[in-house]
Amino acid sequence: MNFCPNCGTTLIPTKKENKISIVCPKCNYETQKGTKEVSKIKHDKEKIIVIGKEEQKIRTLPKTSAVCPKCGHPEAFYWLVQTRGADESSTQFLRCTRCASTWREMS
Ligand SMILES: [Zn+2]
Ligand SMILES: [Zn+2]
Repeated sequence: MNFCPNCGTTLIPTKKENKISIVCPKCNYETQKGTKEVSKIKHDKEKIIVIGKEEQKIRTLPKTSAVCPKCGHPEAFYWLVQTRGADESSTQFLRCTRCASTWREMS
């Protein structure tokens, strides 16, 4: 806290023309706090884009050429699901990129 050298009153920081001036409310003593810029507060908070977990998962899935059993579309997303058990086999799932129909790859 700063005090006025003239009258001892507590100085009040005042913003003047983008500069911070410390002003005495009693005798109008004024001192400038250098040219230090007021720490800029980041207003642009990181925009959080809410994407459904499922949707996000699908978007990142690789595509493969597989014929959809429902609509016959030749392209589908695919992912592997590890089957819990003694045999660590994984099952491939496919989802049609057109009708979103999901099916299991029969090996
Ligand atoms: Zn003063
Ligand atoms: Zn389909």
